[in-house]
Amino acid sequence: MLHHINNLPGPGLENWSISEEKFILLLDTIEKHGFTTTTFELLKDHNHQRRQKEVILSFDDCPAALFEFAIPELLKRNMKAVFFIPTGEIAGFNRWDVSEQGFSRFSLMNAEQLIYLSNLGMEIASHGKHHLRANKISEEVFYQEILAAKNELEALLQKDIVALAYPYGEVPKNYKTLVSQAGYTFGLSIYQRRSNQFALRRIGIHTRDTESSISFKLSKSYQFMRTFFDPILWIKKATRV
Ligand SMILES: [Zn+2]
Repeated sequence: MLHHINNLPGPGLENWSISEEKFILLLDTIEKHGFTTTTFELLKDHNHQRRQKEVILSFDDCPAALFEFAIPELLKRNMKAVFFIPTGEIAGFNRWDVSEQGFSRFSLMNAEQLIYLSNLGMEIASHGKHHLRANKISEEVFYQEILAAKNELEALLQKDIVALAYPYGEVPKNYKTLVSQAGYTFGLSIYQRRSNQFALRRIGIHTRDTESSISFKLSKSYQFMRTFFDPILWIKKATRV
């Protein structure tokens, strides 16, 4: 799970950014361990059969600045990635961060950029419509949000949209029913202890990560360990995020 690749992130975005150098280290480490990148669309085409040594790189929120460094770097290496866009903010800005948390403002990709990426074999996927917190809205509103986002992206890109990343990683109680009824095949969470098709646990990459921590995060032992202990869950509990 990535958001911004930026050497000088604005106020509030520091924890959601890694430097260009760290991004290069991540991609180098993925290649060094013999992983290839895939997408949820391809995973669905392959009937959910995971091949050995595949990883999905995903970017939330679709900052337009990814076109400055991250996307050219991915293309240079022939790597794929998945980009999660809140459809109500296409060509807009991170209204939710700015109004709710006072974060600095950044531009989101526009429709042409999303179409361009999709045509390159990158996957564009849903991040809801207005980036709302599932814990603060009704099930009905959540359902309408994810349904609208799916329909809008399908109309724009003329293809099936298969994946949803829950805004803030917040997963509603009846997520399996809601997400599957809206027509998605995959849901991406952050904090769920038990990973499943509609709440796949993501692996955060942070500014403190090193080659060895990234290598560990790519290992089966890390996946196994996370079912018992995960620093993210501990921090969440301690700070009541
Ligand atoms: Zn987001």
